[in-house]
Amino acid sequence: MGIIDSIVKKFAEQGTIEYKSKLSETVYHIRIQSNSIKKADFVPGYFVRLGVGLGVSDSSIKDKVRSYSVWDINKESGTIDLAIATHSNGVGADWVKKCEIGNEVSFVWKKGNFLVDNNADYYLMIGDLSALSHLYIINRHLSKDKKVESILYNKKLNEHFNDIDKNKPFHFYEMAENPFEEIVTKIKEIIPNMTGRKMVYISGDSRICVSLNQFFRKELNWDSKQIRIKPFWNPEKKGLE
Ligand SMILES: Cc1cc2nc3c(=O)[nH]c(=O)nc-3n(C[C@H](O)[C@H](O)[C@H](O)COP(=O)(O)OP(=O)(O)OC[C@H]3O[C@@H](n4cnc5c(N)ncnc54)[C@H](O)[C@@H]3O)c2cc1C
Repeated sequence: MGIIDSIVKKFAEQGTIEYKSKLSETVYHIRIQSNSIKKADFVPGYFVRLGVGLGVSDSSIKDKVRSYSVWDINKESGTIDLAIATHSNGVGADWVKKCEIGNEVSFVWKKGNFLVDNNADYYLMIGDLSALSHLYIINRHLSKDKKVESILYNKKLNEHFNDIDKNKPFHFYEMAENPFEEIVTKIKEIIPNMTGRKMVYISGDSRICVSLNQFFRKELNWDSKQIRIKPFWNPEKKGLE
């Protein structure tokens, strides 16, 4: 084992892949079991950094780890569920295609601030396939009186998947990559019907995160507290966090 692998493993928690299935043509569902998850202090919106390139001797530091959102957690059984999209075709995508039930995996908890926030009345969720599981868990943990609108987009409609409880709470759209104008058109249709305190969650493609942040602040004059943003990937970069 290389030095980097040893360091990552020393600070990471160890789990075992307990379940693997395909959610759609390009997205995998992975369940990781670890007794440490039973004691996890969890807030919906937390994610993990997975050791996807450990044990691969020729991989560079930046190809050792990738971030994935916790789609669901079961503290009794000590499991977390992840939904991993493979459009990126990088080491993370390669790992999820090849990993098998029973394999060991190293992971580190990350908290961030893209978390559930019950301070609004009406929510708008915007994201691509990589962000779907994160937006699902946020949505499931909003209190029942909240209203939610959504714009989830992908090049192929049938690559979207249902939530882990089999519900379909979001609206899916077929859109090309980086579809800023199309999303803005939808936002303009939705916003007039949103009443009370409003909040938007935006994640996935960093180009959409940046341009929609500008749009909500400058054109709609929304306050920064109403805008929750987390870029998940950037076409110029490998990994992100
Ligand atoms: C906090 C956080 C949570 C995340 N949660 C999830 C999650 O739950 N599920 C999930 O699928 N992804 C998630 N991501 C995104 C995931 O970590 C990245 O997409 C990751 O870079 C993919 O790794 P890779 O090794 O396959 O590709 P990389 O080697 O990182 O990238 C290869 C190329 O693919 C591009 N690329 C990366 N992602 C995509 C994409 N989705 N579509 C098109 N092109 C892409 C990159 O820009 C790069 O050009 C999350 C990211 C962050 C920061």
